[in-house]
Amino acid sequence: KKWTSTAVRQSFIDFFCQNHDHKVIKSSSIIPTKNQGTYFTNAGMNQFKPIFLDTIDKSHPMSELRRAVNSQKCVRVGGKHNDLEDVGKDLFHHTFFEMLGNWSFGDYFKMEACSMALELLTTVYKIPINRLYFTYFGGDEGQGLVADMETRDIWLSLGVSDDRVLPFGMKDNFWDMGDSGPCGPCTEIHYDYIGGPNSVRLVNTGLPEVLEIWNLVFMQYNRRTDGTLEPLNRVHVDTGMGLERMLAVMNNTSSTYNTDLFIPMFNAIQKSCNIRGYGGKTDDPIDTAYRIVADHTRMASVCIADGLLPGTRDQGHKLRSVLFRCFHQSKRMLQMPHGLVPSLVDVVVQSLGEAFPELQEHRLKIKDVISDSEDHYEKVFRIGVKAFDKCLSSNKDTASRHLTDKILMDIVDGKYSDGYGIPSEMLPHLGEIYSVSLDIQGLQQIVEQHQSKEQVEKTEKVYLSPETVKEIVGMGITPTDDSFKYTYQYHSKD
Ligand code: ATP
Ligand code: MG
Ligand code: MG
Ligand code: MG
Repeated sequence: KKWTSTAVRQSFIDFFCQNHDHKVIKSSSIIPTKNQGTYFTNAGMNQFKPIFLDTIDKSHPMSELRRAVNSQKCVRVGGKHNDLEDVGKDLFHHTFFEMLGNWSFGDYFKMEACSMALELLTTVYKIPINRLYFTYFGGDEGQGLVADMETRDIWLSLGVSDDRVLPFGMKDNFWDMGDSGPCGPCTEIHYDYIGGPNSVRLVNTGLPEVLEIWNLVFMQYNRRTDGTLEPLNRVHVDTGMGLERMLAVMNNTSSTYNTDLFIPMFNAIQKSCNIRGYGGKTDDPIDTAYRIVADHTRMASVCIADGLLPGTRDQGHKLRSVLFRCFHQSKRMLQMPHGLVPSLVDVVVQSLGEAFPELQEHRLKIKDVISDSEDHYEKVFRIGVKAFDKCLSSNKDTASRHLTDKILMDIVDGKYSDGYGIPSEMLPHLGEIYSVSLDIQGLQQIVEQHQSKEQVEKTEKVYLSPETVKEIVGMGITPTDDSFKYTYQYHSKD
């Protein structure tokens, strides 16, 4: 029997809620409040940051929370956790994904966290224990942190054989939400698609044969903005399991794209255009395009449902870049007809709408926004092509097929297109088509200098939906952030 995404999600939540007394907490918005200190919500723990740091108001409904569970909407584009460049290239990173998580706030700690995790994996999901690897924090002299031998011993005491319990350093086994904030050593569980002793060297290599599925973080410190660690008053457990990856494991495939979250999207794409079906290969431009289009459409849908709009700054800018990447692949690589990407929203809503009703509620708005963005992309693309033609023929030094940051800035400013500016996120696509290399990094520096000089309109910063505003107010968070104040006032007007 095949496992569905709904069954994997629900059995995780039921296991912790019904068998282990956890309270189900709704996923927070994909757009964090400023004091959460991330770009997008990048992990399930983001909304619980005030509990970890003990800054939560005593009157807050979550201040007494001891155990929680949910499936959190996460986006990892920009900020400390940024997977954008990997998405589409590999078979298990997404821009948007669901993180299944369970938490203990000053309640249970390492022993129970590990034994519950093992119980879920071996009894509910029925994974043989010898197909799992367990990593623990091996210590770091520079940070003055010793190895977490306690966790190693816990896994051994739970029946894991010692050749499957492995130490790793800061990069893999010490988790930080961002450059500052709650953090601590972690223990991770990886699924071994091969079996036997040889796969041991594939753990944490990024190869698909051994896949990281679950991270159990032992929250013990706050990283201050100067980089130093201060111990927390209480210790906590914060776990995160990738739903898409767990679903892949349950269906015995090492690709998250071979699951019910993506196959219907691939089918919808293929049905409406003249292209072969999804073949599942890495390093294949058509398959990569399929993955990018499906992934990015999910990401855009979820962000727009939470009130974000494509724009020129911050998260809005990230969203627009992701949408432009999506359109580039859908049009240039898959020859998808105009209007097909917006119609994929229906497929997204069908698979995620029950878990995240805001998608259902805003279905038409999501389609409209993506449709507008597609029109925008098409218009800018046409102007961009003319600008590139003109630029390449009028600049002698482009004979080397390289456009410098200065030239790129001129293109962005509209020097080659009658003053009509070209958004910088269009440049990589044009560069690819014209086979010219671009100094995008240089351009970025120029733009940043420019922006810091300008008086940045803070009110443009975050777009929150009225629902999100209500939710945040309901959580008892004081709107001290300017952008929040603005959106709060803005939405209370309508
Ligand atoms: P990886 O090493 O594969 O990039 P990670 O160590 O960055 O993952 P964590 O921060 O530990 O990931 O997040 C917890 C879990 O969330 C991971 O074990 C994985 O199952 C899932 N996950 C993380 N990033 C992604 C992503 N981009 N797409 C899908 N699932 C993800
Ligand atoms: Mg990662
Ligand atoms: Mg990792
Ligand atoms: Mg990890």
